[in-house]
Amino acid sequence: RIRTMSSTLDFDIELSARRVPAAEREAILANPGWGQHFTDHMIAISYSPDRGWHDAKLQPYGPIPLDPSSQVLHYAQEIFEGMKAYLQPDGTLVMFRPRMNAARFNRSAERMAMPTLPEEVFVRALELLVGADRDWVPTQEGHSLYLRPFMIATSRALGVQRPSQEYLFLVIASPSGSYYSGGIKPVTVWASDDYTRAAPGGTGEAKCGGNYAASFVAQAQALEAGCDQVVWLDAAERRWVEEVGSMNLFFVHGSGAQARLMTPALTGTLLPGVTRDSLLKLAPDLGLPVEEGRISIDEWERACADGEITEVFGCGTAAIISPVGGVKGAGGRAWTIGDGEPGPVSMRLREELIGIQYGTRPDPYGWIHEI
Ligand code: PMP
Repeated sequence: RIRTMSSTLDFDIELSARRVPAAEREAILANPGWGQHFTDHMIAISYSPDRGWHDAKLQPYGPIPLDPSSQVLHYAQEIFEGMKAYLQPDGTLVMFRPRMNAARFNRSAERMAMPTLPEEVFVRALELLVGADRDWVPTQEGHSLYLRPFMIATSRALGVQRPSQEYLFLVIASPSGSYYSGGIKPVTVWASDDYTRAAPGGTGEAKCGGNYAASFVAQAQALEAGCDQVVWLDAAERRWVEEVGSMNLFFVHGSGAQARLMTPALTGTLLPGVTRDSLLKLAPDLGLPVEEGRISIDEWERACADGEITEVFGCGTAAIISPVGGVKGAGGRAWTIGDGEPGPVSMRLREELIGIQYGTRPDPYGWIHEI
């Protein structure tokens, strides 16, 4: 056991005596899939009102004891983040803009009446875990180690009058393959009439588990309709396009030197994506003006018919940039974007962003965080 300091917190380090054998690990890394396998260790930090954050540990990955009356199991007081560690050509390990995730985590915490975690503790926890499980970072092109920090409410109390008093912050890690193992395939999206993701004053801006629990039936409906993902429309008017699946959206108007981008503005019901924010900075530097605006589902259809909108893509940590090829909706409504194939603007932005993340392109923005 070694001790390491992170600002105000000491981390206890207990390395696993029962690591996954190297041959088994290599077999997993050869074909990791997505979110199915977990590394040898995890991070756990406890919180109580009198002690604040305490008992920070890197420990063997495994089940956690949880009282059946823990608040998280009844009222879903839970938040999470999603990010990746990448291997660079020179062998160093990096994360992409981890402080953005730390800041978003704390905004989610505030919305869910949970305690915030100092950003440097959040980042240090991730560094420790990636460092301990560095053998789990895939070396194959396009693969990465997906990191899942999360916080749950652990007080034994069924009262709904007040939030939990105690919490547990955990980080687990999962080697992940490329989202597109067989080459980039545009997604078809389903404009949901029946379900919405987030209402004004609700929790759409927070990354809380309940938002995703509520999305599964809509996702199932999209699959039934032969689509890959759901387009979320605003809850008030059911008109304005907000997000697709668990990605933010960008619309490309025009082409060539005339191409410009629009992404729905953060109205309080969208998740402020790290990838979205990065593209807002990156695109103008590549000569692609971007504006934050709004578009209705009817306008999307019309502008595709007129050829005004040439490409649409979703963006997020998992798929990075995912071209949208077509849209379907109730009543047999359906249209194609451009020729339905990945467009040049989407692919260029994808290449540039992946290049920065994987260290094959310079990073003038200081987004890469060495571990
Ligand atoms: N929207 C939703 C609803 C999401 O779950 C995610 C994934 N975190 C995103 C957008 C994209 O965010 P990011 O670029 O930070 O992964």
